Parts: sequence; structure tokens; C-alpha cells
Amino acid sequence: MVNSKIWLSSPHMGGTEQNYVNEAFATNWVAPLGPNVNGFESDLENYLQADVKVGALSSGTAAIHLGLIILGVQAGDEVICQSMTFSASANPIMYLGAIPIFIDSEIETWNMCPIALEEAIKDRIAKGKKPKAIIGVHLYGMPYKVDEIHAVAKRYDIPVLEDSAEALGSHYKGQKCGTFGDMGVLSFNGNKIITTSGGGALVIKNLAMKDRVVFLSTQARDDAPHYQHSEVGYNYRMSNISAGIGRGQMEVLDAHVALRRQMHEFYVSYFSNIKGVTVLTEPDQDYFSNHWLSAIVIDPALTTGITSEDLRLAMEAENIESRPLWKPMHLQPIFQDYPYYGSTIAETLFKNGLCLPSGSNLDDEARARIRSVLVKLMGT
Ligand SMILES: *Cc1c(COP(=O)(O)O)cnc(C)c1O
Repeated sequence: MVNSKIWLSSPHMGGTEQNYVNEAFATNWVAPLGPNVNGFESDLENYLQADVKVGALSSGTAAIHLGLIILGVQAGDEVICQSMTFSASANPIMYLGAIPIFIDSEIETWNMCPIALEEAIKDRIAKGKKPKAIIGVHLYGMPYKVDEIHAVAKRYDIPVLEDSAEALGSHYKGQKCGTFGDMGVLSFNGNKIITTSGGGALVIKNLAMKDRVVFLSTQARDDAPHYQHSEVGYNYRMSNISAGIGRGQMEVLDAHVALRRQMHEFYVSYFSNIKGVTVLTEPDQDYFSNHWLSAIVIDPALTTGITSEDLRLAMEAENIESRPLWKPMHLQPIFQDYPYYGSTIAETLFKNGLCLPSGSNLDDEARARIRSVLVKLMGT
């Protein structure tokens, strides 16, 4: 018998999601507006605290696109973006005909290096153009160096779009990720910490901004009996069906964060005895990661030659999914000709890194299977 597939991160329902969806059907709110959309937004606002508003959208990518539009990014503008991330962080820069400027990572959180960031800003200004926005990412749920990054952004008066797509439930110095930037982005794709089957949100600071998000995401219709438009609009609002799933998922969010953190602990405990393997872990007490994905780097010089690819293949042979870290954007065929600042931190992480199964729905049996692959390849 073939063992069932162990996924990196798969949807994990809490049980009440379908009640909200049924309610939507029963009341005929089968539309991109309705009580679940409003309810999900207020659940998120209560969860994030920090006095923010939330606009629920069709995806995290849509949220980044709309966020950049609201920040005033236009064709030809330069937008700074963390290089080590999922391509959805950077693609909306291209939708707008703007120019991405990529920044290396630092070694502690694997996120945007504040030193390289400042170097880039100075150089772009010297070259005649001040960047319009900075996109920082909390990779795998690990908060970036919030104080340092935002201090640089403030010094040059550049707004931050905080890509918190992977970091719902993470916090830094007690404040929730998603609430640090001028705007924050959340994603509820199928593989994220919670899912609405597909969806996202923009976290903004006040009601006026919220109105703007709703206006632009529902085709920018002016106040008139007929359909009148003075601005380009988008069809980016979240569906009331998806939002129903989200409301159910909010009930189990903290429990699922705790389970993801247990998966991380499982790897920390195993690898503590293995030379040459580093598990991505909070640098100090200020950081709290949801550990959306548990990630490691393997130094083959210290593991008698065993590489991250060896481990990936060994896992695959047992029907267990693992995946290289995000390939940095400045190394991607579509982005390689754009400016890049930093050295080879992101590149080296990519070369030696691997994401391991991290779902909140993995049980003892799954952990035993994972452990046996690890022990077979790397010892105890
Ligand atoms: C998933 C993700 C996005 C995009 O979110 P979608 O909801 O899938 O469009 C953006 N940035 C990062 C870092 C992500 O992981």
C-alpha cells in the first residue's frame, strides 16, 4: 500500500466554516458582498487590534496591486521589493508599469536587509528618482526587522506596503504583523495559515481608506443612479461565500498557529543533534513567528555532503512534499535585468534551503514518517 501524501501545507478546516456558507445560501447572499464579508472583516480587525480597518479582497495579489495604486505608484515609478519572496510580492509592480528594485536578505530573519535597503534608497535618489514605496515581506511567517526597516523608510519618507501574506498570527514586540506598514497585505490562499479557498485583504489605517479600497475593488462606481466612472476600477472584492469560510477559520486561527509552532518545535528538536542544519527560528523574544512553513538550511560542508536536494528527494520517495526556499526575484528570468542591492545572502539561502511539511493538520503518524526519512538520511 502506498502511503498517503504528506503536504507542505494544506487546508485545515475547523468545522464551522460550512455553517457560514450554508447561511449565505439560505439568505441568498451569493455575491461579492454580504454579512460574511462584513463579519470576516470585523473578525480580522478585532484580531489584529492596533486600530486598523480591513478590506476583504479576492486575493493577496489583488491586495498588493490595489495597495500600490492607493500609494500612488504609476508607470515609470520605482518600487523597492524584498528579493527573497514569492513572485506575487513583485508582480503587481509590473502590472503598473513600474520598476522593481530588489533588495537582499539579512541572515537572521531571511527578510529584507535594512542596510542594503538604505544603500539602495541613497543610490536611487542619487540617480535622480526617489522610490515610491517599499514592499517588505515576513517570509514563512517570520517578522522582518520591523524597527530597522521602518526607521529607514521613515528617514526617507517612503511608505511601506507590508506583505504579511504568510504572517497572519505572527507578531513583533506584541504587535500583530500586517499592522506595521502604511498598508498591510493578507492572503487566504489554500496553503496559507488560514484559507478562504482563495482570497486576501488590505489592512489600512482608517475608514476613509477602507472606503477607498471598497470603491476601487468594486469597479470605482461614482455616486449616481446610472453607472458613472471617473476612475479606473477593479473587480477585486471578496465573495460572501469565501468570507464565510474565513469566518469559520478565524475561530481556529490561534489554535492552528500553535500547531504550526509545534511542527517547528519538532524540527528544532530533531535537528538540534544534527550538525550543519539551521532551522529558521526567532532571533530573540521580540519576534513571534506563526511558523507558517518550517524551513531549514543545510551546509553540506558540515553534513558529510548531504544537501537540501538530497533531503527533498528522500522525502519525495516517501510521498512527502518538501520544497526549496523561494528563488530570489533578482535571479528570476523575468526580473533579472532590474536593479539589485546587496550580496549573496538570499542566493545562498536559496541554494541550501528547504521548506518542510508544516501543516496544522499533521499528526503523530505523519511526524513519524517524516522523522524516519530524516533519520535514514541524516542519522539521529
Ligand atoms: C501567497 C502570497 C502572496 C499572494 O497571495 P495570493 O492570495 O495567493 O494572491 C503574496 N505574497 C506572499 C509573500 C505570499 O506568500
